[in-house]
Amino acid sequence: MGFNPDFEPFRLPDEYLELRSAIRGLVEQEIAPYAADVDENERFPEEALKALNASGFNAIHVPDEFGGQGGDSLAAVIVIEEVARVCGSSSLIPAVNKLGTMGLILNGSDELKGEVLPDIANGEMASYALTEREAGSDAGAMKTRAVRDGDSYVINGSKCFITNGGRSSWYTVMAVTDPDAGARGISAFMVHKDDEGFRVGGLEHKLGIKGSPTAELYFEDCRVPASRMIGEEGSGFKTALQTLDHTRPTIGAQALGIAQGAFDNAVAYVKERKQFGKAIADFQNTQFMLADMKMKIDAARLMIYTAASNAERGEAESGEKLGLLAAGSKAFASDVAMDVTVDAVQLLGGYGFTRDFPLERMMRDAKITQIYEGTNQICRMVMGRQILG
Ligand SMILES: Cc1cc2nc3c(=O)[nH]c(=O)nc-3n(C[C@H](O)[C@H](O)[C@H](O)COP(=O)(O)OP(=O)(O)OC[C@H]3O[C@@H](n4cnc5c(N)ncnc54)[C@H](O)[C@@H]3O)c2cc1C
Repeated sequence: MGFNPDFEPFRLPDEYLELRSAIRGLVEQEIAPYAADVDENERFPEEALKALNASGFNAIHVPDEFGGQGGDSLAAVIVIEEVARVCGSSSLIPAVNKLGTMGLILNGSDELKGEVLPDIANGEMASYALTEREAGSDAGAMKTRAVRDGDSYVINGSKCFITNGGRSSWYTVMAVTDPDAGARGISAFMVHKDDEGFRVGGLEHKLGIKGSPTAELYFEDCRVPASRMIGEEGSGFKTALQTLDHTRPTIGAQALGIAQGAFDNAVAYVKERKQFGKAIADFQNTQFMLADMKMKIDAARLMIYTAASNAERGEAESGEKLGLLAAGSKAFASDVAMDVTVDAVQLLGGYGFTRDFPLERMMRDAKITQIYEGTNQICRMVMGRQILG
C-alpha cells in the first residue's frame, strides 16, 4: 500500500463542507449583526428565526417524508455550530427543534409524526419538557401526572426551565401515568400550545443565552388525545433519555461554536493590539494560550462529529456506545467552551470585559452548556456507569 498524497484523514465529505459554507454565509449576513442587541435587550432573535426558516436550517433534521430537509446528525451539528459561532441564543432554534421532536422521530407513530413534523418543517417550533422544580438531575422524580380518561389523557402539573416555552407550538411532555412503577411509570406526550388547560408561565432572567426564552409550563386538566402518546404507556422516560443520547452532541456543537467564535475574535484582536512596541501576538505567552485553545477546540470537534456520526448508525447498532459518546462529547466540549471563552476575554484584557466586544457575551453563553441536557457531573456519571458496565 503506497502513500497517497490526496488522502486527507478526517476530511468531511464535500456535501458537509458546502453545507458549512452555506450556513456560514447566512449566519454572517442575517444573524451576527443582531447578536449583541438580542443579548443586550434579552429579546427573542426574530431575525435568526426568519433567516433559518427561510433556508430550511431551522429543523434540518426533520425527515423529507414529513416536509423537512432530511439532514443527518452531522449536518445538524454543523448548522448549530455555525450559528453558535456568532449567537448562542439563536443556535437554540435548530437545537431545541431537534430536542423537542427527537423522541417522536425515534418512537412515535407515523400518524403522530404526520401531525407534528410538517409544522416544524414549516417554521413552527418544538420544545422538550422534562424538568420540574423538584426534579432536575433526578428527572425520574417528576410529579406531573397524566390520567387516562376514555380516548384522552388528562395532564396536571408543571414544568420549569423549558427552552422556547411560549414560542413553540409543540411540546414533548413527560408525565407519570403509573405512580407505583417508578421510571417505568412515565409516559411521553405531544402537547399543542392550543390544547385546553395548557398555559405558559413566567420567563427566567439569566446569565447568558438571554435571547432564548426559558419558561414555566402549567398543565391544568390539560386534555390530549391518547393518540398523542409517544410509543407505549410507560416508555416515556426511556424516550426522554434516548432523546438526550441524540441531542447531547447538539449541545456540544453549541459549545464548540461559541468556543470557535471566541477564538476567532481573540486571534484577530491579538494581531492588531500593540503593547511594549509590538503586537501582543508576538508574545510567546499569547501564542501558547492560542495553541492550547486550538488543541481543545479541535479535540472537541472530533468528539462531537464522532458522536453525531454514531447517532446516525441507529440505536440497535450503537446502543450504549452512543450514550457514552454523547455524554462525553457534550461534557468535554462545554468544558472547552468555558475554558476558551475565559482565556479569550483574558487575551483582550480590559476590552474583553466590555460590551464593545462579543467575548464577554460568549463567556456568559458558554456557561449554560455545562448545565443543561444533563449537568456535566451527570454526564460523567452516565459515562462512569457505561465504562464499568
Ligand atoms: C437556560 C436553561 C434552559 C433549560 N432548558 C431545558 C429544557 O428545554 N427542557 C428541560 O426539560 N429542562 C431544561 N433545563 C433544565 C436543565 O436541564 C436542568 O437545570 C439541569 O438538568 C439540572 O437540574 P437542576 O437545575 O434542578 O439542578 P440540580 O439537579 O439541583 O443539581 C444541582 C447541582 O448538583 C449536582 N448533582 C445533582 N445530582 C448529582 C449526583 N447524583 N451526583 C453528583 N452531582 C449531582 C448537579 O450536577 C449540579 O451541580 C434548562 C435549564 C436552564 C438553566
